[in-house]
Amino acid sequence: MPADIPDTSSTSNTPDSPEHFEHHAPIKHCKNCGAAVVYRIPDDGDAKQRAICPSCQTVHYDNPLIVVGTLPVWGEQVLLCKRNIEPRRGRWTLPAGFMELSETVMQGAARETVEESGAQFEMGNFFSMVNVAEVGQVHLFYLAQLQSDHFEPGPETLEARLFAEDEIPWDEMAFRTVAQTLKCFFADRRAGQFVTHIIDID
Ligand code: ZN
Repeated sequence: MPADIPDTSSTSNTPDSPEHFEHHAPIKHCKNCGAAVVYRIPDDGDAKQRAICPSCQTVHYDNPLIVVGTLPVWGEQVLLCKRNIEPRRGRWTLPAGFMELSETVMQGAARETVEESGAQFEMGNFFSMVNVAEVGQVHLFYLAQLQSDHFEPGPETLEARLFAEDEIPWDEMAFRTVAQTLKCFFADRRAGQFVTHIIDID
């Protein structure tokens, strides 16, 4: 799989960090007993500071979050959703959100697409994996083939509509992960072949 170097020069108008849905808040209380935790290196050879409960000794690990979504396609156009929630309310995004427990990546991407756009679609190939290491997130996007141009956006979306490439509101994108995924999509379409993209955003 080819690795893509983010073209930061062409995304200078999209938001800079911090970004992406929400940040990890530090763990404050033990999930096991509720006591206030302390941050220190565990005694088991670990190299990182962890939130450790001084009462029941539980060690809490804070790991990256996975965001799943789709890039829905209708002919020459793609579907974008205008966010009705913070962060980045009023900006455009692909339908995406946090993966839930007990679902696959594809199921989560489909669920988010239904919730945010009300679109009818068929899931396509896996398209992009975007590492946002600085904020501890990985964003995963599938292609999706729209079956209709009728949308029924949910409460998290102000508007769901189709855009041709020259209509994309690049200056009003919510997230660089979305902008980079869209740039890869249009570049692949010009090249006549869709491949899988691995993108690192810092
Ligand atoms: Zn505890």
